[in-house]
Amino acid sequence: MCIFCRIVAGELPASVVYEDEHAMAFLDIQPITPGHVLVIPKNHADSIIEVSPEDAGHIMRVSQIVDRALRESELRCEGVNLFLADGKAAGQDVDHVHMHVFPRFPGDGFELRDPGLGKQPTREQLHADADKIRKAMEKIL
Ligand code: 5GP
Ligand code: ZN
Repeated sequence: MCIFCRIVAGELPASVVYEDEHAMAFLDIQPITPGHVLVIPKNHADSIIEVSPEDAGHIMRVSQIVDRALRESELRCEGVNLFLADGKAAGQDVDHVHMHVFPRFPGDGFELRDPGLGKQPTREQLHADADKIRKAMEKIL
């Protein structure tokens, strides 16, 4: 069983902020900022693309509730980031889908470096990339 499945099963401790039949939200043990929450589906899935549409929607709904609670809590929270790393190359370390929901405020030190900053592809390039995505999507939808 993965570590998050073990948290769901009650085998490992967690500081839980929300739980229902399908989802759980608990504090990250290495918070980016105080109040950093992880929202997970109770059913194990490595990737968000393996999660049922219902669970995927529910994870977003729970993340929305956590976002609001963070903003209305006594924790410092002037903005919120929702972040999901899907795959190792995207920074996923725990192979049970999880949405990071964490408070942001000026000077918190969190940074996402954007290698594309300042570069603007041509419309032809954007159209060509959109074509590739649409082609793949036709097989999915
Ligand atoms: P990832 O890098 O996969 O997007 O995020 C994994 C997150 O899980 C990290 O932020 C890490 O601190 C957190 N984490 C790892 N092990 C545990 C654990 O046993 N309990 C909790 N609550 N969080 C964990
Ligand atoms: Zn799991």
